[in-house]
Amino acid sequence: MKVTVVTRILEANDRIAAENRKIFDEAGVYVINVMSAPGAGKTSLIERTIKELNGKIKIGVIEGDIAGTDDAQRIESLGIPVIQINTGSACHLDANMINEVLPDMPLKDMDLLIIENVGNLVCPAEFKVGENIKVMLLSIAEGDDKPLKYPLMFQESSALLLNKIDLLPYTNADLGKMKRDSLSLNSSLKIFDVSCKTGEGIREWADWLHSQVK
Ligand code: MG
Ligand code: ZN
Repeated sequence: MKVTVVTRILEANDRIAAENRKIFDEAGVYVINVMSAPGAGKTSLIERTIKELNGKIKIGVIEGDIAGTDDAQRIESLGIPVIQINTGSACHLDANMINEVLPDMPLKDMDLLIIENVGNLVCPAEFKVGENIKVMLLSIAEGDDKPLKYPLMFQESSALLLNKIDLLPYTNADLGKMKRDSLSLNSSLKIFDVSCKTGEGIREWADWLHSQVK
């Protein structure tokens, strides 16, 4: 029975996620799990967030990608502790992958750990990794139909960042519909319009995140 198998996998994952969360709580680290489709701007958002919060709190990053170390190198160049996880064929991070790298992370010296999930709008939302909150990044160029097509991502997230807001004049995206549909799935979703290119909206997002960490 496929349904039973999937349920057991998620239950086992949730147990390890709870262990991770205990480790994070004991170290006093707030953890966000950043999810989006490939190319929505997760790494750019993390770079912007680090620059905005630099000097206010101490940040570490775990990068999840199927292959490659480009993203980790971008973060490392900012002088931030970072670990790259290459999932091979897996299209999401799970709690065990995070658990395995935690001994190599200086958690006690950190206030905020940002986990960048594998670019994918489906299963990252199903797998807890021990985070305090999930954060979703949707670039407006992806289309205003995405909230209703991928509801779980929106339901599981505490914050939604609508990125590439500078491209609004060049797309057919209906920003109002994107927000209405997102809020219809999750009325407590905190929504930010941002551009990781121009920096618009980054301060508002970073201030909100900072208040969550405190
Ligand atoms: Mg990335
Ligand atoms: Zn997956």
